[in-house]
Amino acid sequence: MNLHRPNANEALQTKNRSRNVAPQSGICSRCLDGCKGNCDMFQATFRGRELLYPQPFGKVTAGADKDYPVDYSHLNIMGYALGAKGIAPDPDKATFPAVDTETSFGFSQKVKMKVPIFTGALGSTDIARINWNHFAVGAAISGISLVCGENVCGIDPELELDGQGMVTKSPEMDRRVKMYRRYHEGYGDILVQINVEDTRNGVAEYVIEKLGAETIELKWGQGAKCIGGEIKVNSLERAIELKNRGYIVTPDPENPAFQAAFKAGPLKQFERHSR
Ligand code: SF4
Repeated sequence: MNLHRPNANEALQTKNRSRNVAPQSGICSRCLDGCKGNCDMFQATFRGRELLYPQPFGKVTAGADKDYPVDYSHLNIMGYALGAKGIAPDPDKATFPAVDTETSFGFSQKVKMKVPIFTGALGSTDIARINWNHFAVGAAISGISLVCGENVCGIDPELELDGQGMVTKSPEMDRRVKMYRRYHEGYGDILVQINVEDTRNGVAEYVIEKLGAETIELKWGQGAKCIGGEIKVNSLERAIELKNRGYIVTPDPENPAFQAAFKAGPLKQFERHSR
């Protein structure tokens, strides 16, 4: 029994022509010569690994829809009164509004939170940039911690670097930190992730010394995941700029053959990979 539904998924905007598919491969039980297709396999013959990316890229947040045999919906929580812990067993005190969900993290410098929640990391993707204000304000007034993902400085079009390639100005990072801080009510913190490229570009020094950030997360290995650390780049100039900032850009935007393919049309986008 296949718990996936291979070869067709809304996240990739692909589907089978037939209503009957072989469960293990996801190929239609009648794979038709001349099919105009739209399954993964059909599209992959034209666009190859572009199918790694949920579509339309930069406008969606995608989740896996694998069906697990057991999930939380199979469990019932049957509550009944059996004393009280954390509060007096007093019907005037043990009330719903008195529930305390406060917690903290950190070893020597504790950060209090109203609820034990961190956001997912919102980094250099368009979806994170465009929706940042909603997340930042919501997290700040909810008293939870907001994770600013990797490469925010690295893809900032207005980024300024010094002679050693270290960040001296990043209006996009400034905006992200300031927006959270403006609505911060003493609970939670903004946590800036730093990957290999960020480390080399001095992002940690910039956010700590210039923006007053107090929490950072050092990360390595993003590029080793199935998909991660990647954005699509729609212009040749931008692809070359990101390569010059230390990113791996595929295909190589400085290769004359790929430049010609991009200008002629078959090559539509470059990919920026971070580590
Ligand atoms: S190519 Fe067409 S017929 Fe073949 S598996 Fe894909 S959708 Fe089905």
